[in-house]
Amino acid sequence: MTHTVDAPAAVKPINHWISGGPYVGQSGRSGAVFNPATGEQSGAVDFATAEEVDRAVQAAKQALPAWRGMSLAKRAELFFAIRELFSAQREEIAKHLTREHGKVLSDAVGEVTRGLEVIEFCCGIPHLLKGGMTEQASGGVDVYSIRQPLGVVAGITPFNFPAMVPMWMWAPALACGNTFVLKPSEKDPSASLYPAELLKEAGLPDGVFNVINGDKVAVDAIIEHPDVAGVSFVGSTPIAKRVYEIATANGKRCQALGGAKNHMIVLPDADIDMAADAAVSAAYGSAGERCMAVSLLVAVGDVADPLVEAIKQRIPNVKVGDGMDAASEMGPLISREHRDKVASYIGADAGATVVVDGRDGCPDDGFFLAPTLIDDVKPGMKAYEDEIFGPVLSVTRVSTYDEAVKLVNENPYGNGTAIFTRDGGAARQFQFEVQAGMVGINVPIPVPVAYYSFGGWKASLFGDRHIYGPEGIDFYTRTKVVTSRWPDPATSKVDLGFPQTR
Ligand code: NAD
Repeated sequence: MTHTVDAPAAVKPINHWISGGPYVGQSGRSGAVFNPATGEQSGAVDFATAEEVDRAVQAAKQALPAWRGMSLAKRAELFFAIRELFSAQREEIAKHLTREHGKVLSDAVGEVTRGLEVIEFCCGIPHLLKGGMTEQASGGVDVYSIRQPLGVVAGITPFNFPAMVPMWMWAPALACGNTFVLKPSEKDPSASLYPAELLKEAGLPDGVFNVINGDKVAVDAIIEHPDVAGVSFVGSTPIAKRVYEIATANGKRCQALGGAKNHMIVLPDADIDMAADAAVSAAYGSAGERCMAVSLLVAVGDVADPLVEAIKQRIPNVKVGDGMDAASEMGPLISREHRDKVASYIGADAGATVVVDGRDGCPDDGFFLAPTLIDDVKPGMKAYEDEIFGPVLSVTRVSTYDEAVKLVNENPYGNGTAIFTRDGGAARQFQFEVQAGMVGINVPIPVPVAYYSFGGWKASLFGDRHIYGPEGIDFYTRTKVVTSRWPDPATSKVDLGFPQTR
């Protein structure tokens, strides 16, 4: 839940970024930003009005002609400069991130680095924008296709990857020649604002990249704005669906990535230590606040008892603490409300067995919940059905591979899934039949590298194009096909028939 507050003097005011500089919001509304490791308010972020959203969109619109007219050689050169600056500043960006999100600094640096890979992919934009060409399609007629930007595009992003997910959007959008308005999560906006300063420092012209902070008011103004041509959204499924429906009803191109409930299947022949290490890393890394986190372990046959035991043994070794402390491996959750909601799943389902209760032994201050393990979780239970989005790993026991795959395929979400096995045939069959957008084979968090694209199936994605990589370039461009002929007195004549190629 968002707190609407008057900013106390001690907390940092967090403003918008419009036309290459900070813009102090005039709405009189703001949201509290916390340090989740201490529970104290650290900032107050401006909440934009529809008029302020329009101001940002108009800045982007004004910057568009010069930006899309810049030569590809220059745009690529600028992207190399952006790459260098972001690489040099990755720890600084990570600190902004950890202070407001809570994830441990090493994880935050990892997040920025994965975002940096998308910038690196975009350095090859001259190649990525190449079209096709057919010479002599008809006598003296050539046909070629070109990719052009959509115009002003917007990105609306979630709290859990406040640096990387915006980079998934703005990097390909700008590389393709669009100008951009970002609406980051109101819970941890600084990791989106600091990059705005870096982009300016790298030489990005004013107005090409703008940040508008806020809540539903700002989002609604973006998705209904007549000058916004495309919207990328990442967040929870109900909001993703709503954003997709309204944006497309308003004539915009939209890709809206939603929530997840990722299953990791472990077959009886799997390497138990490898599977247990992977499950602990993927369930509790970033306190389980990852859309690709493993939240359901599907143990097939007699692997269940030794696997649960191996995970239980590992949990006490996970060091929970302030993300700025280099010794910490898992930080707090984003807010007190969210921590309490996640904790409410512990012991809520009759018939499920709480093996490790994360409420025990947590630091007193801040929004902490330690790793939690729940066994004997079955479809229909709350822990099975809901996207918990916290450090809670549920174990579902089944007898066969077929039962395990059926669970994944019948789940309404289809973001990521993984199988752990030594059997190549079973893994290949899984890859063939599983209904999910991203599949890991002995890899628990199969986030695609930057030259593939990221996206789920079913209720994990609304729209038909995945984000970043080749599909990101498709999303942020429109194709135009040119049919051309040059004056040739020898072939010129009046012909009222439909153009023929033969
Ligand atoms: P969220 O849906 O609450 O918020 C996402 C964005 O939508 C934020 O910018 C927020 O300000 C805005 N928003 C929130 N409520 C709104 C409303 N009623 N109307 C209009 N806009 C609104 O998501 P979150 O809690 O910030 O992030 C966690 C969720 O994001 C999880 O469900 C997670 O699975 C999902 N996620 C998905 C992916 C993916 O790639 N599929 C990646 C990261 C996170």
